Amino acid sequence: MTQIIDGKAFAAKLRQDIKQQTDLLKSQGITPGLAVVLVGEDPASQVYVRNKGKQSIEVGFKSIEHKLDATVSQAELLDLIQQLNQDDSIHGILVQLPVPKHIDDKAVINAIAPEKDVDGFSQLNVGRLNIGEQSLVPCTPLGCTMLLKDYFGGDLTGKNAVVLGRSNIVGKPMAALLLQESCTVTIAHSKTKDIETVCRAADIVVAAVGRPQMVKKSWIGEGAVVIDVGINRIDVDGKTKLVGDVDYDDVFDNAAAITPVPGGVGPMTIACLLYNTLTAAKMQRGIE
Ligand code: NDP
Repeated sequence: MTQIIDGKAFAAKLRQDIKQQTDLLKSQGITPGLAVVLVGEDPASQVYVRNKGKQSIEVGFKSIEHKLDATVSQAELLDLIQQLNQDDSIHGILVQLPVPKHIDDKAVINAIAPEKDVDGFSQLNVGRLNIGEQSLVPCTPLGCTMLLKDYFGGDLTGKNAVVLGRSNIVGKPMAALLLQESCTVTIAHSKTKDIETVCRAADIVVAAVGRPQMVKKSWIGEGAVVIDVGINRIDVDGKTKLVGDVDYDDVFDNAAAITPVPGGVGPMTIACLLYNTLTAAKMQRGIE
């Protein structure tokens, strides 16, 4: 029987746990604070930012949003980040990507104080993750790792993992986290030869390619666990449908377990942002 990995339920449990820990911190006079900065009016980004703010408040955080005009200069944005870096009531800072083209996103990300970089995208946190030091880890791969560890009873040692995709925000940090969990990791990408055969050898497949339903049954070895990061909107009979990078129905019988889209990895991303903000607040106050 294939198990459906319920990311929505796991994320709800994680938020509950974060709320309890937040209540405890508040009783010690510390309220975790998250600042989200949105530049411009991209509709998808507006929805993400609204949800991040709403869920932050639900777990008891202080939540602030800075909405800047699309024409804001890079210098003005960097000034705001400096102010937030120095604000003791703010423990996590997130700049919603993408930013308008006239702004260098790397300069913006690296301007965030590493201990407040709750997206884990800054060079310092990327480096720390890759040398196995304590760091703030990108939210989506962190969420995937939590789901996998939960499924495997906490231990991924020796699993053969294939990560499809090598982006800086998903594929690469995902591979680093699986390596940290002592998996044998292969990263496949658009130039990989015979990707289907590479993928079929995996105990764990994490798909993050941004190609709707690319991964088919023949890619998945009997009993593999499939984590689908993809969020793609496709047109079915004139209606928009949300699908992953995995052809869920096709793959289902081959897999031992699989995340659905929606309701799998998606809800874990914001929950892990809250988790990182709580971790950042504790780290900044020297609490284990
Ligand atoms: P990117 O476009 O940045 O990266 C895609 C990666 O997939 C690249 O490394 C690319 O290879 C590889 N790729 C593309 N086509 C193929 C192919 N035909 N065969 C093999 N590899 C291929 O995407 P992201 O990493 O940002 O996102 C991946 C997916 O995850 C998207 O669907 C996105 O919407 C979703 N996502 C979901 C999140 C969530 O919260 N659930 C959060 C972030 C992303 P190459 O490097 O060679 O070009």
